[in-house]
Amino acid sequence: AKDGGRNGCALYSDELEDKATENLWLQNELRHAIEREQLSLVFQPIFNHDGELVCCEALCRWHHPERGPISPAQFIPVAEDSGLIIGIGQWVLLEVCRTLKAMSEKGTPMPAVAVNISARHFNQIDFVERLLALLKAHQVSPAQIELELTEYALLSNLNAISERMQRLRSAGFSIAIDDFGTGYSSLSYLQSLPLSRLKLDAAFVGRIGTEAGNAIVRAIVDMAHSLMLKVVAEGVETEAQQAYLSSLECDFFQGYLLGKPMPASELVARRIAPSAQ
Ligand code: C2E
Ligand code: CA
Ligand code: CA
Ligand code: CA
Repeated sequence: AKDGGRNGCALYSDELEDKATENLWLQNELRHAIEREQLSLVFQPIFNHDGELVCCEALCRWHHPERGPISPAQFIPVAEDSGLIIGIGQWVLLEVCRTLKAMSEKGTPMPAVAVNISARHFNQIDFVERLLALLKAHQVSPAQIELELTEYALLSNLNAISERMQRLRSAGFSIAIDDFGTGYSSLSYLQSLPLSRLKLDAAFVGRIGTEAGNAIVRAIVDMAHSLMLKVVAEGVETEAQQAYLSSLECDFFQGYLLGKPMPASELVARRIAPSAQ
């Protein structure tokens, strides 16, 4: 603590060290989170052009007994870096299957569920086989599941990815590209893959209302449609955003304006009584 320059430097490395310690703590706690039953799922509704609740997205939640809720924005990157994301992804798929089965047995079936699949998990050699075995064991049809992949999952061998996607489509799954526009893939590259939907990243939706923002959103929606892909707009927070997206004939809408992530029981209740919003 003798000279200011050194001090600034020490502070910086302390912050890095704190961050590293924090991540290590998260990683160690996350390692036991499944067996300690700290993870759960919530489901965010997705609506079509007519305002019907047609599907939902499963989102993972972590409730730590001492820390309380820890955001996916914090723990998913740690899970990715440590490889724990594969076990978590498998747990999410299992929990989605259990929920689909339980809700249909209660007579209140879920709409189709979109599941986030990390690149590391998707690139496991036995991903398709394990997924099919899981669904079979729970008597869940692939038509009830949509796989959301980020552009990051498309960075390795295109032939292998295309072949894997083809098998998934043939089995009856649909596939969406998540956070579209934030990664590296061009639309023409996506054309060679058997996709069903693009999810327009919330950052673009947030720029609607400015001239440049409107132009970008229009360009993406138009190009996606010309490639025969449906578009899901995420992060819809205002009536004005929804109105603009509707004018472009955007196909699906997701966001706090229409519904926050919620437990499965609430989602099916809302499906039965859509006026109870
Ligand atoms: P994502 O896949 O892009 O999911 C959408 C995120 O936007 C969710 O955050 C959702 O709660 C939030 N959101 C929805 N509508 C609005 C809105 O109108 N405004 C704003 N500001 N946010 C909105 P969440 O649940 O915190 O998840 C964050 C990210 O963590 C997800 O982004 C996804 O990348 C990852 N994630 C969450 N659950 C899972 C999972 O089960 N597996 C994997 N691999 N990743 C997951
Ligand atoms: Ca997603
Ligand atoms: Ca997304
Ligand atoms: Ca996003």
